[in-house]
Amino acid sequence: MKIIPIPAFDDNYIWLIRNGHYAAAVDPGDAEPVLEYLDRHGLRLAAILNTHHHGDHTGGNEDLLRHANAPVFGPRRENIPAVTHPVGEGDAVKLPGLAEFAVLDVPGHTAGHVAYYGANSLFCGDTLFACGCGKLFEGTAAQMYASLQKLAALPDETDMYCAHEYTLANILFAKTVEPANADLVQREMRDRQAREQGLPTLPSTIALEKATNPFLRCEHPAVIEAASRHAGRALNDAVSVFAALREWKK
Ligand SMILES: [Zn+2]
Repeated sequence: MKIIPIPAFDDNYIWLIRNGHYAAAVDPGDAEPVLEYLDRHGLRLAAILNTHHHGDHTGGNEDLLRHANAPVFGPRRENIPAVTHPVGEGDAVKLPGLAEFAVLDVPGHTAGHVAYYGANSLFCGDTLFACGCGKLFEGTAAQMYASLQKLAALPDETDMYCAHEYTLANILFAKTVEPANADLVQREMRDRQAREQGLPTLPSTIALEKATNPFLRCEHPAVIEAASRHAGRALNDAVSVFAALREWKK
């Protein structure tokens, strides 16, 4: 099994999980680059996995299905065109010959957002980003914080595939919060080099996110202090720190 990034729009990645014959597409906002890849590599579409209802993650569903008859997995609590298999926490998504994923409910960015975890890989859409997190469009700070904590509890070595290339901008913000974080400085050098070479900064790992992502570090003294300074009052619990960081990042 290989996981291939297919760039789409300005900064989306559609992740393709493939073997020699079949491929599953995660969050195909646009069908065209996926069809082109499948065609060029002689692959058949085996499944579509959607993490949430936003158009830049689902807009290609129907066009892809015009070319192949494949199951479409998506969050049970959201209304997404073409979903054939609504899923939620506790469900398993079996992709024969590719992998099996556990479904995790991770509300916050949207109310029904799900993530897919399996084969040492996490597909988390717009919930956890490399060195950042998604905006709170439909959920509360407490919901998003709990969702991020659920992802942070996965094994350290888990490869994290989020749906956007936002990493360098996120690192800039993280450095404002924690300028003395040596792991962050090192990460910036590595990821800047990747972007200069036109490469994705992904996948990240859960270990790297725990070391550098301020939204997963709401209990670290330096982060509490920076968030409190920005909020103009002492923040005493992790959710308040998270909410202040989310507000600060814009
Ligand atoms: Zn989104």
